[in-house]
Amino acid sequence: MEQAVSKEEIRQLSLEARREGKRIALVPTMGALHEGHLSLVRAAQTRADVVVASIFVNPTQFGPGEDFEAYPRDLERDMALLSAEGVDAVFTPSADAMYAPDAQVTVDPGPLGELWEGTSRPGHFRGVCTVVAKLLSLVSPDVAFFGEKDYQQLVIVRRMAADLDFPVKIVACPVVRDPDGLAVSSRNAYLSPEERRAATVLYRALREAETLVCGGERDGSFVEQAMRDTVESEPLAVLDYAALVDPRTLVRVAEAPGARAIIAARIGATRLIDTMAMPSSV
Ligand code: AMP
Repeated sequence: MEQAVSKEEIRQLSLEARREGKRIALVPTMGALHEGHLSLVRAAQTRADVVVASIFVNPTQFGPGEDFEAYPRDLERDMALLSAEGVDAVFTPSADAMYAPDAQVTVDPGPLGELWEGTSRPGHFRGVCTVVAKLLSLVSPDVAFFGEKDYQQLVIVRRMAADLDFPVKIVACPVVRDPDGLAVSSRNAYLSPEERRAATVLYRALREAETLVCGGERDGSFVEQAMRDTVESEPLAVLDYAALVDPRTLVRVAEAPGARAIIAARIGATRLIDTMAMPSSV
């Protein structure tokens, strides 16, 4: 497995692969790798000749007072995991290598960036769009893999690629969960054992919504209230939002079938998100 730390190295690597006529996949991550990330890598391997993973804790997508400093980092372990998966190359730039000190142009995520996560995390999606645009420019992949876990991010990256004419196909991968339903996340490492147990409430709320829709419930606000009630029944959880939205526009919908359920809650000091597609025909 090759490692590139500079923009020149990763550009060169990608250029060589392209010259050999190889199809390139990109899997962007912030490291602290888990089964969710590895599912993206495995999906990428089925769709490309060369898989490039990036590990970069992007400072510009963290707000003041968020967990940028505390975010788990273990490059040695991550490299071993990626190597064991047969990844071809890993891009591990420093923040200084990624951003020039006088950089000032960023990518505006548009109105989608103001909704949901954007309300709780102002500027987050500008940081995400900017770094993803840079990674797409540096690696020029044919195909790039994103998890549905960060559903709003996926929708915004798709829009960005379409609206800014990036010649890349964005592929979505399903949410990987622990056996008790909790979506795996690097931030789960922050949870105490008691909080870890409480954290399943996000999944329980989503399942409650799914069960209602499967049972014929169509009223979006009724289903949303049921999700809120589930979260409120968990003393360690503080709900941020629980909503049924249009899968593409992320605007709240009145009709539950076919909607995308999205949820965010704090469990102690840790903010977690999750999502589930609601069945469309019952
Ligand atoms: P992160 O390192 O948190 O920025 O995540 C990197 C990529 O992995 C993003 O596209 C995430 O959506 C995806 N991802 C994170 N957790 C999961 C999960 N539990 N299941 C599927 N994909 C995930």
